[in-house]
Amino acid sequence: MNTITDNAAIEAAALGDQQTEAAPLSLRDALIANGILIDTGENGLYGRSQVFEDVIERLSTAIAFLGADQQPEILRFPPAMRRTDFEDSEYLKSFPNLAGTVHSFAGNDSGHQRLLRALDDAVKLPDGERSDEWMDQQKPTRLVLTPAACYPVYPVIARRGALPEDGRVVDVMSYCFRHEPSLDPGRMQMFRMREYIRFGTPEQVMAFRQMWIERGSVLVNLLNLPVEVDLANDPFFGRGGKIVADSQRAQALKFELLIPVANADAKTACLSFNYHMDHFGELWKIHTADGEVAHTGCVGFGMERITLALFRHHGFDVNAWPDGVRALLWGDTQARLAHGMAEAAAAAAKAAQTSAQAEAGADAGVNA
Ligand code: AMP
Ligand code: ZN
Repeated sequence: MNTITDNAAIEAAALGDQQTEAAPLSLRDALIANGILIDTGENGLYGRSQVFEDVIERLSTAIAFLGADQQPEILRFPPAMRRTDFEDSEYLKSFPNLAGTVHSFAGNDSGHQRLLRALDDAVKLPDGERSDEWMDQQKPTRLVLTPAACYPVYPVIARRGALPEDGRVVDVMSYCFRHEPSLDPGRMQMFRMREYIRFGTPEQVMAFRQMWIERGSVLVNLLNLPVEVDLANDPFFGRGGKIVADSQRAQALKFELLIPVANADAKTACLSFNYHMDHFGELWKIHTADGEVAHTGCVGFGMERITLALFRHHGFDVNAWPDGVRALLWGDTQARLAHGMAEAAAAAAKAAQTSAQAEAGADAGVNA
């Protein structure tokens, strides 16, 4: 008999007993077999079932309640942005390998005939053997695919002039594209990122980031998911990338909230908390009310990853999810979140008091 590892236990919980004898299905295979994700034949590109979308929407509602007191401005963009804005963003300095550009046919009538002939030849062959000659006349359009939900926002805010006294908080959600095909269901090529973006002084942005690390942890705790927050770095491209990544870590600019998703040993970043310092403020010429270069930061919720974590840890039947999780997503979401946040605040206050007392005790010891 196989030893039941942590991993297998989680898998068994998620999969029921449909796979007692055979080798365990991977999470990806099991999600597809259960109709939760729909295979398109392309790694990292999935259709979503009704039940998957229902969970995403309920999570999104919960996140909206979590951030309501910030009175964010809600903005929604299609999953593409202006190529010129993208060029200005410096994304290509860091992640040229992940970017997706949009091309379109730019030929004339005879070019069209050539395209059709090449296509005729291509479709006779199976996937792996097809030539992409029909694409010879595709030219870049003025659009690129959005790489992170906050990217379309900076130029828009910049065009409005100086920030108000309190800065701004913007709420966005968008499908994002990253060219990182993978069999890991948590690493998709197109996925939704829900973000709050803070524009303001360094103090405002740092306080915002700390607050969201706490709120994100409250949400994930209420979802009965194991939570761990850690310092992180982005996967900067190329030989120089390591230096940039090391500097990002040394300055503690990025934290991630990690949850085991595809397997128990590898934790997956489900929320990210970024402090960009004045990078975007400088780039886009965004200023505070006092005329200083604005600092920015964002919290990004990986909607698919959190949803996958829920299926992974609580099983594929949402009706059988733990009562607290069901009550949070399908019940009185707002009241539960308010209660969770109040409890976390009380626990933090108590911890601060205990450590102050311990310090006072230590001082008394020294003085005695
Ligand atoms: P990042 O900008 O890389 O910090 O991404 C923000 C959030 O988006 C991450 O914390 C993830 O939850 C999510 N995310 C990033 N890349 C992917 C991907 N390839 N597939 C699914 N979710 C992703
Ligand atoms: Zn962002």
